[in-house]
Amino acid sequence: MPRDRILILGGTRDAREIADALAASGRPVVSSLAGVTAQPLLPAGEVRIGGFGGVSGLKSYLESAQIALLIDATHPFAARMSAQAFEACRDTGVLLLRFERAPWSAQPGDDWTTVKSAAEAVAALPPGARVLLTTGRKDLDTFFQRADVSGIARMIELPPANPPGNWTVLRERPPFTVAGETTLMVEKAITHLVTKNAGGSATEAKLQAARKLGIPVVMIARPAKPEAPCFGALDNLMVVVEGVLSP
Ligand code: NAP
Repeated sequence: MPRDRILILGGTRDAREIADALAASGRPVVSSLAGVTAQPLLPAGEVRIGGFGGVSGLKSYLESAQIALLIDATHPFAARMSAQAFEACRDTGVLLLRFERAPWSAQPGDDWTTVKSAAEAVAALPPGARVLLTTGRKDLDTFFQRADVSGIARMIELPPANPPGNWTVLRERPPFTVAGETTLMVEKAITHLVTKNAGGSATEAKLQAARKLGIPVVMIARPAKPEAPCFGALDNLMVVVEGVLSP
């Protein structure tokens, strides 16, 4: 088997779009999902699901699956997977490219407090805050520990345990609209938006709604990832992929 396959580390809409584009151009592509979403939207091409088993497991996979190029298109907050991809590619000589959408930045009229972690975000909330929380399932407990804070926790998958009585879980998948986000914030008497700096248009509407309503935002900044050639536009990535894989 020639070593010409492309592995995409996914779990994002960007990764699906990259896989669809590469499959359409006839490239042998396999997308990898962590397996955290019960009913994931699947891209074109081959799909594998579940962790690799750390750096050593990923290195074995890169060898056995004849991977020539790894495209890390994981979410900007999937820091562990990106670090492991970096190490595995460095050790095996597999080429690594990263796709990462640009982060959001505060606009005139925004009231942002930027923090480094969920713990710092919780600490930044004033007593009695009513929060729209869009940070995903991982850090919920950190927020639920504040008995004086209440609100709506929105996520794609339900959390494993029921939230405390002062919180409501809203199960919804992006994209969201500014009108919808505005209605949600008004109807639920939201005083603060807590979110991660994911970037991208599908979930940006909440920031526009918060700006319009004068609602302060606690923004969790992106974690650092190891240096790798990074693309934010599909067209640019495709040109480079064709260049590096052409005979
Ligand atoms: P993480 O903390 O960086 O990784 C945790 C472990 O999950 C990794 O060590 C790896 O297990 C496995 N894993 C992660 N991404 C994988 C992939 N694409 N294919 C196979 N295994 C993967 O990741 P996370 O933050 O939990 O995110 C998990 C997945 O959800 C990622 O694919 C990410 O793109 C997506 N996602 C994350 C967020 C977020 O806010 N973190 C938001 C939206 C989507 P092994 O060590 O066993 O290989």
